[in-house]
Amino acid sequence: KARELSEQSPLNIIEGRGRWGILCSGVSYNYVKDAVAELKMADQVTILRIGFSHPLPVGMIQNFLKGCEKVLVVEEGEPYLEESAKTYAQEAVLTLPIRGKAQDLFSQLYEYDPAMVRKHIAACFGLAYTPPAPVDLSDVPPVPQRPPTLCAGCSHRATFYEVRKATEGLDTVFPSDIGCYTLGLLPPLSTADYLLCMGSSTGTVGGFSKACDRKVVSFIGDSTFFHSGIPGLVNAVFNNHDLTLVILDNGTTAMTGHQPNPAVDMAQLKLEGYGRVSIESVVRAIGVPHVTVIKPYKVKKSIDAIKEAVAFKGVSVIISQELCALYASSLKLPRRKPFHVSDKCRNHRDCMDHLACPAFYVWEGRIKIDANLCTGCALCAQICPENAILPVKDAAKK
Ligand code: SF4
Ligand code: SF4
Repeated sequence: KARELSEQSPLNIIEGRGRWGILCSGVSYNYVKDAVAELKMADQVTILRIGFSHPLPVGMIQNFLKGCEKVLVVEEGEPYLEESAKTYAQEAVLTLPIRGKAQDLFSQLYEYDPAMVRKHIAACFGLAYTPPAPVDLSDVPPVPQRPPTLCAGCSHRATFYEVRKATEGLDTVFPSDIGCYTLGLLPPLSTADYLLCMGSSTGTVGGFSKACDRKVVSFIGDSTFFHSGIPGLVNAVFNNHDLTLVILDNGTTAMTGHQPNPAVDMAQLKLEGYGRVSIESVVRAIGVPHVTVIKPYKVKKSIDAIKEAVAFKGVSVIISQELCALYASSLKLPRRKPFHVSDKCRNHRDCMDHLACPAFYVWEGRIKIDANLCTGCALCAQICPENAILPVKDAAKK
């Protein structure tokens, strides 16, 4: 049935009636289209674009091969289409050359680009092609580095800052996991020493707690916790490991585009008929002896709670609850007022140096906050030793 669907699928399309064939899929199709136009070979080529790729439309591919003298397969990654096409050709007793991955053609490595596809199509079909001269960039000033960073107002920034404060002076290992919070890797947050694979933060943390005398504070997101973090935590409780796990519960699966996870409040999405699994209940049911829920925008309280958890001998879990800033905005929740750096600022830049919120910028040597980016999370206001960072309305009064 699936094969029939694939044979009939409008996602698999044939274009042109030329004697040379190009079999492609995904983004490579767009590169092929551009290359065929630029090489002025549209009359000579038939393109089969596969959109329904499993199972493949065997009959359609065999008919396509029958009409071609020679075929080039353009697909990124493994030679799935290429090997399938060769098999189908053999089954249909066709002897035409089918090329794709080869030393002089496409690689299994890296992403393709239009220039590469154009060059290999020309080479495969023996067309004259002179690559354009490289653009002279010698007079272009160096582009400032813009490392990836957590969004302005991201609650992970607050949690990371608080964990660093709570573990000041301790020799701590910070395992991390897969999610936006892996960006804790970069300074000034520096709260991701390594990442092995999805869910590994709860498993490897137990190993570290046994293998070294250092404190171990591990991070995992809410979705990853449900996906593959629970078994590691069960193992840690069973073995009575000495560690702290911080579950960053931002109410959604943020990194991949706000998909729900079992802890998400589906009513907020106006979707009915769903249950909701409490992370705290799961953690307590596993038998974790020290469990605390923090609100990371309350900085002092959170630091105190994290200190207690880290000092606890055994498994402790901190659940840091605050909605992803982008998710909150997509839910159209009321916006907090943005903050502003008042003239009490003494310009020592603790805010910038410890948080690196992207809403900060420097103008004429002074720290400023971009009110369009600032979500009003108040994190920077709580760490400014001069109390110089104020909500916009308060700043206006001063
Ligand atoms: S309040 Fe401060 S930390 Fe929060 S988003 Fe605005 S500038 Fe960034
Ligand atoms: S921490 Fe406060 S006083 Fe220091 S630079 Fe930032 S805003 Fe200014």
